[in-house]
Order: sequence, then C-alpha cells, then structure tokens
Amino acid sequence: TRYVYRFGGNVSDGGQGDKNLLGGKGANLDGMASIGLPVPPGFTIATPVCALYYDNGERFPDSLKAEVATGIAHIEGITEKKFGDAADPLLVSVRSGARVSMPGMMDTVLNLGLNDETVVGLAEISGDPRFAWDSYRRFIQMYSDVVLELDHGRFEEALEIAKEDNGYTLDTELTAKDWQKLVEEYKAIVVELWGKPFPQDVHDQLWGAIGAVFGSWQSERAKVYRRLNDIPGDWGTAVNVQAMVFGNMGETSATGVAFTRDPATGENAYYGEFLINAQGEDVVAGIRTPQYLTRAARERAGAKPLSMEEAMPEVYAQLAAVFETLEKHYRDMQDIEFTVERGKLWMLQTRSGKRTAKAALKIAIDMANEGLITREEAILRVDPAALDQLLHPTLDPDAPRDVLTKGLPASPGAASGIAVFDSDTAEKRAAAGESVILVRVETSPEDIHGMHAAKGILTARGGMTSHAAVVARGMGRPCVSGAGTLSIKASEGVMRIGTREVREGEVLTIDGSTGEVMLGAVPTIQPELAGDFGTLMVWADEVRRLKVRTNAETPLDCRTAREFGAEGIGLCRTEHMFFDAARITAVRQMILASDEAGRRAALDKLLPEQRADFTEIFEVMAGLPCTIRLLDPPLHEFLPHEESEFEEVAKAAGLDVETLRRRAAELHEFNPMLGHRGCRLGVTYPEIYEMQARAIFEAACDVAEKSGAAPVPEVMIPLVGTRRELELMKNVVDRAAQAVFADKGRTIDYLVGTMIELPRACLRAGEIAEVGEFFSFGTNDLTQTTLGVSRDDAGRFLTTYVEKGIYARDPFVSIDVEGVGELIGIAAERGRATRPDIKLGICGEHGGDPASIAFCEATGLDYVSASPYRVPIARLAAAQAAL
Ligand code: PEP
Ligand code: MG
Repeated sequence: TRYVYRFGGNVSDGGQGDKNLLGGKGANLDGMASIGLPVPPGFTIATPVCALYYDNGERFPDSLKAEVATGIAHIEGITEKKFGDAADPLLVSVRSGARVSMPGMMDTVLNLGLNDETVVGLAEISGDPRFAWDSYRRFIQMYSDVVLELDHGRFEEALEIAKEDNGYTLDTELTAKDWQKLVEEYKAIVVELWGKPFPQDVHDQLWGAIGAVFGSWQSERAKVYRRLNDIPGDWGTAVNVQAMVFGNMGETSATGVAFTRDPATGENAYYGEFLINAQGEDVVAGIRTPQYLTRAARERAGAKPLSMEEAMPEVYAQLAAVFETLEKHYRDMQDIEFTVERGKLWMLQTRSGKRTAKAALKIAIDMANEGLITREEAILRVDPAALDQLLHPTLDPDAPRDVLTKGLPASPGAASGIAVFDSDTAEKRAAAGESVILVRVETSPEDIHGMHAAKGILTARGGMTSHAAVVARGMGRPCVSGAGTLSIKASEGVMRIGTREVREGEVLTIDGSTGEVMLGAVPTIQPELAGDFGTLMVWADEVRRLKVRTNAETPLDCRTAREFGAEGIGLCRTEHMFFDAARITAVRQMILASDEAGRRAALDKLLPEQRADFTEIFEVMAGLPCTIRLLDPPLHEFLPHEESEFEEVAKAAGLDVETLRRRAAELHEFNPMLGHRGCRLGVTYPEIYEMQARAIFEAACDVAEKSGAAPVPEVMIPLVGTRRELELMKNVVDRAAQAVFADKGRTIDYLVGTMIELPRACLRAGEIAEVGEFFSFGTNDLTQTTLGVSRDDAGRFLTTYVEKGIYARDPFVSIDVEGVGELIGIAAERGRATRPDIKLGICGEHGGDPASIAFCEATGLDYVSASPYRVPIARLAAAQAAL
C-alpha cells in the first residue's frame, strides 16, 4: 500500500482528493493543485498511517521512510532548493489534518529545516539576515514546544528579557544580531531542559515533527474535542509536509485568512483578515490586530489601517479570482489561508468554512437560488441540530441596557450569566445549574470544556477568526471577542472596564450579533421564523415522508409547537397536570386514601381540572391528532420527600402525620422505575384511568360542540408488557367513552393504543396489536429496559462507555440502532402483520435526534414526536432522511 501522496507543480497523486485517506487539508491541497491554483509543493502522509503508528507501539511502517524521501525529492525538484543544503535550504511546514477540521486541536511545526548552517545560507540567499534569524528562533521555539514538549514559558521569558535589556517594546524592533543572540539563548535553554542540544540534522527534525503530529491525535484536548463533536478515535490524522512560503519577508509580503462569504451572517461578500509582514500564526493567535480584507468591511467598521484591497490591489484581485474558482469547484463557501511572499500569492489551505446556523441557512438558500447547488443539496447542507441556534431568543431591542463595552460580534445569539474567569470554575458552576459567561483574555484549546459549559464567551483579545470565535461558532455559543477595553485579572476574580468593575458571580449579558457587553440580565425576544428559515422548512416539508408531532402538555407549549410546524401531539404526559400546586393536595388525598370510595372522592376534585386542561389543548390543536398518555409515574413521586414537609401535607390531606409517614413508607419502592407505575397503576386503581378518560372525552365533546371541529384523541396506555393489560385498560377507557357519549348525546372518533417501552411488548407486539390501535415507541424506557441501564443513574459511567467505544453515542440521546432498533423493527413488523394500518410513532427523546430520525425513516414509522423547540429540527432531519 501507498502511504505518501504528492501535490503541487503538475502533480496531484490523490486525484481529486479523498478526505478519508488524505484528511481534509491534504485532500483540498491536492484538489487545489489539480485545478492549477498556486499551492506550495508538498506531500501528505495518509491517515491510515496514524492507526498503524499506534498499533505498532508508536513506530512507523517500514516502507514509509523511502516514500517520504520521494516526497521531499518532489518538493526539492519544484522549488529548486535542497533540504538541509547550507547554501539554499528548503524549509517545510509539518501540519496535521484529520478528515474533519479540528481547529487548533493538533500540532503544527513551521520553518523546519533550519539549523546553525542553513540559517546562514537563508540569510544570504534571502538578503535578509533579520528574517533568517527570526525564522530560526521561531522554529526552535515551536519545535521545543510541540515536539520536545519543553516549557514554552522559558522561551517567552527570554524574549521579554531581551526586549527589556534593549529598551524595546515590540518584537519588530529586534535586529538580526538580537535574534541571533536570542537563538544562542534558546539553544542553551534546550540543553538545560532537554539535556541534549537542539537537533541539527534536518531529517531528525522532520521525523520528530511527524511523530509529534501523530502524537497530538491522542492529546487530551483532541480527545475532548472528538467527544464533543462525535469524531471517532480511529479515524486518525494525516500529516502534511509542504514547502514554506513566507509572509514575513517585508512590506510586499503578507498572510491572511478569508471566507468566500460571511461566516456569521452568510452575506455573499468576501470576508477576512490579513497582516502585512507576518506569519500565519500571528493572525490566528490574536497577537497583532489584523486588518480587513475588503475596503467595504473596513469602512463599515470605521477602521483606519488600509484593507488588502487598498494596500495590495493586484494581489487582492488575484485572490478574489481564486475565491470564485474555489466556490465553483467545491460548490460551497470556503475558508482559506493564504500567504503573499514578495508579491506572489500562495494558497495554503481551503476547506468548507464553518459557519453559524444563520449563515448556513442563508448560504444554502442563496446557493440554491444562484443555481450553484440543487434544492435537495440545500436541504442536506443545513445541520438540523444547528437550527437550535436560530430558534432561541435574541435581546429585546427596546429593553434598557447598561453597555460596559463593545467587542467583535464573533458568534451570534445573546446570553446572560454570571461572569467567570477560568474554565474549570465555569464547568463547576455550570454543573451546579448556574448560567455562566466565560470571560478570558483569549481562549486556547485548553478552554474547550469551559466554553462548552458556558452560555456565552467573552474575550479581551483576538479577531473574528481567533480560537474563541471559531470554536464558539462551531458550538453555537454566543461570543464577543477582542473587547480591547477589558482588563481581566483572573487571579483576583475581577475585570475592569475604565473605572467600572465586574467581579466573579456578577451577571453579564453578551450579544454575539452586535459585540455589546452589558451589566445585568437583558430581556430577550422570540426569533424570526419567516425568511430563509421559512423557505428551508417549506422545501423540507415538500420532501419528507415522516410526520412530525410534539411532546407537550401545556397550551403554551402546544402553541409554540404549532408555530414551529407540529402536526399533532405525540405525547401529552398527564402527570404534569398533577403537580400543579392547586391540585397536588387532591392528588395526595387520592394516593393516601384507604379505599376506593376515598380515591373516587379525591378524583372527583381532579376531574374538572383535567377536563379544563384538555379543553384548552384541544382548542389549540384544533382538529389535529392528540395522543394523551394516562398516568405513568410511581405514586411516591407525588408524596413529600422532606421530613419538614410531612406536617403540612398531612394537615392539607386531613390525615395525622403518623398515618402519612406510614403510607409513605408503604409506598416506598427500591426500583420505582420498574415498580408500581404505568398501566400497573391503572390495573390496581382503574378509577384513576377512568377519571382521566372521562376528562378527555368530556373535553373533546365540549370542544366539538363549541367549534364544530372534533379533536381526535388517541388515548395511550403506558408501560404495557402483555395483551391482557392493554385489554383491561382499553375496557376502562371504552366504558368511560360510552358513558360520556351517552351523557353528551354525541360521539367522537378516538383511538386506544399503547406505548411500546418494554422488550416483552416488542416481542409480543403481534397479539398486543389485536387490542391496541396504535403503537408509540417510548424509547426512553425502552432503552433503559433493553440495555438494563437506568436512565437516572447512567450519567456516572456512560461517558466512559462512549469514550471506550462501547456505545458510539449516548444511547439515551441517539438510538442504539443495533439493540433497541432491532426490537423496534420486530415490534413494527409483528404489529403490522396483525393490523396492517396500525399507526406507528416514536415519542422518546430520540424523536428529536437527527440520527434517530433517520432510523425511524428507514424503519417506516409514521411519525416522530419531539419537544416544541426540536420540531423544526425534526422536520429538517426527516427531509434529509427521505433524500
Ligand atoms: C419514554 O419512555 O420514552 C417516554 C416517552 O415516556 P417517559 O419519558 O415519560 O417515561
Ligand atoms: Mg416511558
């Protein structure tokens, strides 16, 4: 097998670039080379080598050496420089590149190939000794950090001291001699910390760097990033070795990053940042504040330093032409890194750009309208999960706000929370249920857990393409970056803005769409659901087969869900109506009653309340199917748990405290989730289900009477395992229906069906369908009972299970297709064999998860049901599943 693929010149070994083989970066370098764009020559070590490297105890396969030598020869041939040559040395970069981009998570080494001899040659041939020595010290610093893993603080300290000794404030003030002297100090630091001199053999340097890049695949931060983004650990990374080009060779050189469209808004305008006389890391690291790419963007921001369009008009025009070529070729918005070396443009990277949900939506719709992609592709381009970002509130424009400062609008959306100055604290306080705004000078990959825990991110430094901005956009967290007037003292737990102070724990609001930072919480308003969002939903509805319902039990939730396009209720959990403060006393009287008469007396008080609930819901859902589940949770959930509450509850229920205590003890269960719950309540106390059924049918008759549009109640019995249970419960419901219809003098259509949430129910679905008129898969319980994993206690070990690949994803989030999925398949088949037109749906949390929705489509279910805010996600996911 071949491990090394060359690109550049007229070569592109990868032939249209396979991302799985070459990694994203390698595939696209190859792709750019193949369409004649100016790419510095190089080669890619393919991703399978990464797995081989780890399987062989961190050793490379035997044939790799010779292949890498061929790759180096290729670069030497095109650049007419020699690797390690004292007179005209070839320098290379060594970079990681997995199948999908993992920004900042893995290692890079630049300027590789410099040593005590080649630096002299480089100084001579470039005519710029200062540049040569600066490059050498950068290389030593980076290599020592990334490959030798030495403390980078020591190198930074040495540089600071050198500046102080000379009375300089900026790096640019150091002369060639100063850098040369610093190189000597750096080498001494290496000897001191590493015990050996800095490697002088360029081939040793190269293999060290290649090993470090592969090594970074298993770094902690890369593992965390993979876990958060569902990236499998066995993909591995590729390594790209490429001729260096220099953006720091004076005023005609530059480096920059750009997007072919605005990644925050989706606007069809070039967008980016660049720096004259700089290396790529300077832009991303946020050390110098970058300049705008286009004149329009500069003017809009009211910034002074000239844009690239103004400062380098010819190269800018070339770059703009490249943008057009790339968008046509890849048919997507591109994120580009480029360098200008003495007036010549080089393309270092292109990839499909990360974008906000808003931008993803706009770009997909625009590109379909431009004819660049089809409507189907537009539907597939938008990540359903990312729609979430668009469905959440933004700041009320009319609300008063106390603006502390303004930074860059790095990732849209608004968030309020307490200010926290480090990522560990952010994680802790978020875990304790607080909303947190993570405030940092700048973020680094070590902050990823804090960023994830936070509701929003605020940084003092860094541009729109800084680490904080890129990662926040990817996570859908609002972010304000580069708020330069902030002075953050993390160790004292305080930040200052002018004369004002904000301490840890004080509430801040950030608006990632405007860059504003405010003191206190600012009220929000609901999002706009028309426009591009509405268009995409219309397109999605045209292609999807699955119906989308909602899980809702309040009129407000029902209304929200209808606005989001719900086509009915898939699950109304009636117990939520029991917890109401005004009703709980009657519920407790019912539970504590010593006989049926006592229970009926309490239930009589609940009947009108439930009827009113159902009436309102049926009105909101006018004419749509509504699946209403009868009481499910174990009764002890309704009783007080704290000793301090007993007295009051006993008094309200008209019992003495001792009786209450005794009844509570009697009702105590060791495994309530497998205990006296679901239809077992209905079997033992049929009067409860009878009351609920009455309330449903009376409400349905009343609404039919009033509006003329009869609702379609679907009465659902939970936790059924046998045909007989369902039959008993159906009799209770049918009798209640007949009684109500006789009272009201009218009949309405209704169905009685069951939840399928026990493995036995799946296996015996054939006979259960003789009674049940619909099945709704309760995949929360079905996952719990199939896996034998408690949904309440699994948190402690499930993360480890997912990390170790035992389950690909959390099975309570994304359906376990192999196990739970097979049971659902069996139940669907057996149910349909008995009753061909049986209605099949899913109402567990999985009903709003795109991967699980794809499974539901493949299994041929009729509908999915999701919480109101997930309804649009489900509509889009259902469309994608149908394509
Ligand atoms: C389920 O078990 O999937 C379900 C929807 O019911 P609940 O979550 O209320 O147990
Ligand atoms: Mg359940």
